[in-house]
Amino acid sequence: MFGGPVAIACECCQCGDCCSHMLLVHSVTEDLGTYTFVVYNHYSGDVKEVRVDPDKIALFEDRSSLEALPEACPFLRFDPANGKAWCTVHQTRPDICRDFCCWRLLIQDSRGRRAGRVLYQRTFVTDSPALTRLWEQVKPTLNGLDDAEWDDAVIRILTASGYRVRR
Ligand code: SF4
Ligand code: SF4
Repeated sequence: MFGGPVAIACECCQCGDCCSHMLLVHSVTEDLGTYTFVVYNHYSGDVKEVRVDPDKIALFEDRSSLEALPEACPFLRFDPANGKAWCTVHQTRPDICRDFCCWRLLIQDSRGRRAGRVLYQRTFVTDSPALTRLWEQVKPTLNGLDDAEWDDAVIRILTASGYRVRR
């Protein structure tokens, strides 16, 4: 996830989707002061101490960007200037966040903007109405393909339609 240079092969555009429901996973069990907190993972049982990055304290203090996101991770914030999401504990974030990558295939439009993603094996998520319309046409043609054929067909069809597909 995000908050600084992306450390893994996943290119993050800081939309914040992945952290917007993470209160269901992470809860703060203790405030140790000096912007240091103990975080409990409800699924794995892991306990982790995190600290707000020194350069993100002002952002952390302003919770207004989370008003419409009651299930958001307590450390998620959106920059009011550009809407980008930040992990305010990026330097000490839990391992589950370090390992996370939200896409298997990334689909970019002709201007390099994210147009969609393939998550897991075949979960197709679009960010643009144009790609949604195209996908409705393409989807029925992929029935019966195995996983490798499905990937090849998706990449070929979307590339022919002007998109760039990255693995
Ligand atoms: S959902 Fe993906 S692109 Fe969006 S913030 Fe999370 S890792 Fe980044
Ligand atoms: S700790 Fe950071 S990366 Fe992990 S869920 Fe919270 S905001 Fe997202």
